[in-house]
Amino acid sequence: MKAPAFDYVKPRLLADVFPLLQTYGDEARLLAGGQTLLATLNMRLSEPSVLIDLSAIAELRGITLVGSMLRIGAMVTHSEIEVSALVAQHAPLLPLAAPHIAHRAIRNLGTLGGSIAYADPAAEWPTCLLALDGVVIAKSATGERRIRSDDFIVDLYTTALLPGEIIIACEFPAASAGHWCDFDELSRRHGDYAIVGLAGAGQRSENTLTDLRLVFLGLGATPLRASRAEAIIDGQPLTNGLIDQAVSALKAEFSAVGDLTSDAATKMHLSGVLLKRMLMKQMRLKSA
Ligand SMILES: Cc1cc2nc3c(=O)[nH]c(=O)nc-3n(C[C@H](O)[C@H](O)[C@H](O)COP(=O)(O)OP(=O)(O)OC[C@H]3O[C@@H](n4cnc5c(N)ncnc54)[C@H](O)[C@@H]3O)c2cc1C
Repeated sequence: MKAPAFDYVKPRLLADVFPLLQTYGDEARLLAGGQTLLATLNMRLSEPSVLIDLSAIAELRGITLVGSMLRIGAMVTHSEIEVSALVAQHAPLLPLAAPHIAHRAIRNLGTLGGSIAYADPAAEWPTCLLALDGVVIAKSATGERRIRSDDFIVDLYTTALLPGEIIIACEFPAASAGHWCDFDELSRRHGDYAIVGLAGAGQRSENTLTDLRLVFLGLGATPLRASRAEAIIDGQPLTNGLIDQAVSALKAEFSAVGDLTSDAATKMHLSGVLLKRMLMKQMRLKSA
């Protein structure tokens, strides 16, 4: 199918976006990499009267260290994050997760802001944002606000962004000495959306992980923090017994939602596999 007719504007300044949003309201859609939006237009799931292309706005690009936070502009692509030396140094979880996002051609166009705004429950960036305790910077005609990752995604494909607001950047606490992170996911074929995935971040000392954030994708309507498993692992030396306890706690905490390819029981089983695999890897690394 073809997309319905729409008008198209390509502002060069961020300040020019807000009057457009005020004029067109819900009739307008922001166009970032187009890797999700254009498919939904072609399928006529959405029929906006105007697309506001963000690609010429320099203020939405760039990766910089701002104090103790790594700031990544909303229009930075998945591929740029994947290869950035600054990101590898200060937020090493992101380049671990990036190769799992679709295929190279999609990563060359898709953007951080587009992925976070779309809030697909199986997407990698919203999950990493939550695991790293990141912040979304939203801007509207009336000013800027910082939204903590814990508060940003509120339901399936639903975020805390208000009408007239756009994501201009995300910030991630820069990794300090002892920072630990890991990412893993299971999908039917490489490049498919994951069946389940796991992003982990915290501090590591010897055989012990602390300040732990374990976040699953693909289990429910939003990325899910495995708080009970975190509490069992946090501050305790890793052992086989402790890891088994954490896996049991994970299964007691969530009941997954099945989808077209995998039922809930499969997803729960695979989430336990991912958690065990990630923690066993830490134990082996320490004892090696
Ligand atoms: C075949 C295929 C496989 C894919 N597999 C994966 C995968 O495995 N993992 C994954 O995470 N993603 C996957 N994607 C999605 C891809 O990562 C998209 O790039 C991403 O979801 C959306 O980013 P975008 O820049 O293309 O946004 P767009 O498609 O341009 O926009 C998406 C939505 O976000 C809104 N938006 C965009 N930018 C902003 C902003 N700055 N502020 C507020 N709202 C904004 C748009 O209005 C729109 O509603 C896949 C896509 C395809 C086509």
